[in-house]
Amino acid sequence: MKPAPFRYHLPATLQEALELLAELGDDAKVLAGGQSLLPMLGYRLTAPAHLVDIGGLSELRGWELDEAGLRIRAMARQREVELDPDIGLRFPILHAAIAHVAHAQIRNRGTVCGSVAHADPAAELPATMVALGATMVLERSGGRREVPAADFFQFHFTTAIETGELLTEVRIPSPRSGSTGTFLEISHRKGDFALVGVAATVVADGDRVAAARIVCAGVAPTPFVAVAAEQAVVGRVLDDATLLVAQYCASEGMSPTDDFHAEGAYRRQVAGVLVRRSLDVIRSQQGALSA
Ligand SMILES: Cc1cc2nc3c(=O)[nH]c(=O)nc-3n(C[C@H](O)[C@H](O)[C@H](O)COP(=O)(O)OP(=O)(O)OC[C@H]3O[C@@H](n4cnc5c(N)ncnc54)[C@H](O)[C@@H]3O)c2cc1C
Repeated sequence: MKPAPFRYHLPATLQEALELLAELGDDAKVLAGGQSLLPMLGYRLTAPAHLVDIGGLSELRGWELDEAGLRIRAMARQREVELDPDIGLRFPILHAAIAHVAHAQIRNRGTVCGSVAHADPAAELPATMVALGATMVLERSGGRREVPAADFFQFHFTTAIETGELLTEVRIPSPRSGSTGTFLEISHRKGDFALVGVAATVVADGDRVAAARIVCAGVAPTPFVAVAAEQAVVGRVLDDATLLVAQYCASEGMSPTDDFHAEGAYRRQVAGVLVRRSLDVIRSQQGALSA
């Protein structure tokens, strides 16, 4: 199918883009990598009168990596971030999650911020941002605000971004010392959206878990924080018994619905198994935790 007619805008500066978004209001959509928006336009799942393409804005390319953490700007492509060795070393969980997103060709175009703004419940990056304690930077003409990832995702494909706002940057703080993490998922085929994904980070204190963040994708309208599983591991050594308890606690409070891809009961079960496997990976990364 062809998209409904729209007017295409290619602003030359961030200020111009923000002014356009303010002027056009709900009639406009931001175009970043186009890997979700263009199919939606083609299927007429959305039909905005205006597209504001941010692809020409040099201010929005790339990222900053320093002591404080990582700031990924709006036009940083998923593949660029994935291939940066320094980011891979400092944020292995982000690297692992991006590698699960679609295929390299799609990641060459798709942006990290676009995936976050799109907020597909089965997408890898929203859950990862919650696990990493990221902050979303939202700019509008004449204003700017920051929203923690935990408050940013509100429902299926719905975020805290308001009309006239642009997600200009995702900020990920430097991991605490002693922390490690991983991202695991089950999907029908490699490159498909996750049936269930788990982003897990653990901070070790000696042989014990000092803090844990375990977030599931694909089981709820927004990234699901498996609080009971986190509580099951904090203060403990990651032995087999603790991992099993975490597996059974993981799905507490979770009620995934049946859909075309999988039954809710299956997703619940897989979420628990993936939580256990994530913790298993983490304890092999941090030998002290399994002592
Ligand atoms: C075949 C295929 C398989 C895929 N598989 C996966 C997968 O397994 N996992 C996965 O997570 N994704 C998958 N995707 C989606 C892909 O990751 C997209 O790149 C991503 O969801 C959107 O990023 P984008 O830069 O392409 O955004 P776009 O498609 O340009 O935009 C997506 C939405 O976000 C809004 N938006 C984009 N950037 C901003 C911004 N800076 N501020 C405000 N709003 C913004 C747009 O207005 C639009 O509503 C797949 C896509 C395809 C085509």
